[in-house]
Amino acid sequence: MSGNVELEKTLAIIKPDAVQDADEIKRIIKASGFSVIAERQIHLSTEQAGDFYAEHYGKMFFTNLMSFMSGGPIIAIVLAKKNAIEDWRKLMGPTNPMDARERFPDSIRALFGKDQTQNSVHGSDSVASASREIRFFFPQMILEPIPTGQTTER
Ligand code: ADP
Ligand code: MG
Repeated sequence: MSGNVELEKTLAIIKPDAVQDADEIKRIIKASGFSVIAERQIHLSTEQAGDFYAEHYGKMFFTNLMSFMSGGPIIAIVLAKKNAIEDWRKLMGPTNPMDARERFPDSIRALFGKDQTQNSVHGSDSVASASREIRFFFPQMILEPIPTGQTTER
C-alpha cells in the first residue's frame, strides 16, 4: 500500500458458445482497460460445471446450464483492473442477450450471446465469488487477503 492504484481481480469465462469468438472478445476486454493475468482452456465435466454453478442447484435452468457448460471447451481468464468485478459485469451486459441488445447494444452479451443460457461470457458478481471462482480454475494463484469487512469465510 503506497498510494498505488489498487488492482482488483475477477474471473471471466468465455463460454462454449463463444470460444470461436475468443480473439475478438479478448480484444474488446483489453481495449476496455483490463489486463489478462492468467488464462486457461478447459473442458469441464458435467460434475465440475455443477460445482462451479452450485448456487443455482435446483433452479429450472440448472440441468441445461450444466450440459451447456460441459458441452465444449471454455476459456477461464483472470482479469485485473481497478474496480474489475463491477466493470467486467458492465462490459458483459445483462444475463439475457435479448435484453442486452435492447439496453446495452455494445455489451459482449449483446454482441455474442445467443439466448438466456448460451450467453457467451461469465463474470464473478462479488469479491467473495471472485475469490472462490479464481481458486476454482487457478488453485495455485496467490490472492491478496479479502479486505476487512468483506470476508465471508469462517
Ligand atoms: P449471470 O451469469 O448474469 O451472473 P446468473 O448467475 O443468474 O446470471 O445465471 C448463471 C447462468 O445461468 C447465466 O449466465 C445463464 O447462462 C444461465 N441462466 C440464468 N438465468 C437463466 C434462465 N432464466 N434461463 C436459462 N438460463 C439461465
Ligand atoms: Mg451469476
